[in-house]
Amino acid sequence: MLLTNIKCLWGLRDQSLALRGVELAVLPCIENAYLRIEGEQVADFGPMQQLQHKERSGLTFDLSGQHVLPAWCDSHTHLVFAGSREQEFVDKIRGLTYAEIAQKGGGILHSAQNLQQTSSEILYEQAKQRLDGLKKLGTGAIEIKSGYGLTTEAEIKMLRVIQQLKKTAGIPIKATFLGAHAFPAAFKEDREGYIRLLIEEMLPVIARENLADYIDVFCEQGFFTPSETTQLLDAGRRFGLKAKLHANQLHNSGGVQVGVQAGAVSVDHLEHIGEEEIHLLAQHSTVATLLPSAAFFLRLPYPPARQLIEAGAAVAIASDFNPGSSPSGNMPLLVALACIQMRMLPEEAINAATFNGACAMEVQQEVGSIAVGKKANLIITQAMHSLAYLPYSFGTNLIESVILNGQFIPD
Ligand SMILES: [Zn+2]
Repeated sequence: MLLTNIKCLWGLRDQSLALRGVELAVLPCIENAYLRIEGEQVADFGPMQQLQHKERSGLTFDLSGQHVLPAWCDSHTHLVFAGSREQEFVDKIRGLTYAEIAQKGGGILHSAQNLQQTSSEILYEQAKQRLDGLKKLGTGAIEIKSGYGLTTEAEIKMLRVIQQLKKTAGIPIKATFLGAHAFPAAFKEDREGYIRLLIEEMLPVIARENLADYIDVFCEQGFFTPSETTQLLDAGRRFGLKAKLHANQLHNSGGVQVGVQAGAVSVDHLEHIGEEEIHLLAQHSTVATLLPSAAFFLRLPYPPARQLIEAGAAVAIASDFNPGSSPSGNMPLLVALACIQMRMLPEEAINAATFNGACAMEVQQEVGSIAVGKKANLIITQAMHSLAYLPYSFGTNLIESVILNGQFIPD
């Protein structure tokens, strides 16, 4: 397959280290370009004038005026869940407090109760449908967490659903074990008991069946303390799971320090960080993953993207798709939010949503940028004057088509 007359071919990059600091504002491109796909991979690309000397074969698509980007890499989602929580959304608009909502059956524990009662077939079907929707918006790699099970049986059920998606979705998927999302009601007075259950009962099964790539903990006041988090990450490491962490979402919880210390692949959220945490992230390879749609949906302050970038941290953005605080995985909208609300430049936001997202799930050798031999996972925009038009026109779908594994996905 040959794409010709591409107005601008973006995200050309063949490296393995996450982009940090000023590198984030550089999105390498070729104007008036062609790109050739063979099988599932990018075979060749360059300026149009070079194509004249090459033999043309296969299907050709003229993309005059259109831009081509690498597909999004969404490195933090809770895509597998049962049902939705729009009643809670309306209750919040009406002004009900968190405690009142919890009393009516809202929050993580409510999602867990729903999930425990839902069959794996239905969970799979719902998640598959969501994922198909995301692919049409250009998502070409994704991370999915457990964490709405909170019992051994339900956590394993979730992870098996993710494993099934891995086999059928046709895009790279990373699975993260987030049994430490909240303390289930039965263990409210026995935190140690639940941590023992996570370590002694769940982790061995997960390792034996190879159900997860990472371990995650909600390190937050009222949830898991820094020392409990360290204990869980250490246990995860013994079972071969690297760390990705929910850190500093609601308070300066110490999560960043714990994550960096544990060599986490990423620490995610970071709404509440100060100089010390920013400095730490600038000095370490742990990716700082920001989730602007969660701040947007919860009307909370956004994480300090500019300070992180200016200090030299590796910043990624991801959707946090989940039923409670970000019921959307729309990456183009996230890129717009990153620009509008966190003052990231369009190039920075796109790098953060593609290459650095890939780094935050260790799939950057395969996806996240355009390079010969990498997967042909591409976004084709409508005709537009410049790349900045994409986040500028927030809420407008400017993605004309998406290519995954070298094939156009059906509309
Ligand atoms: Zn999350």
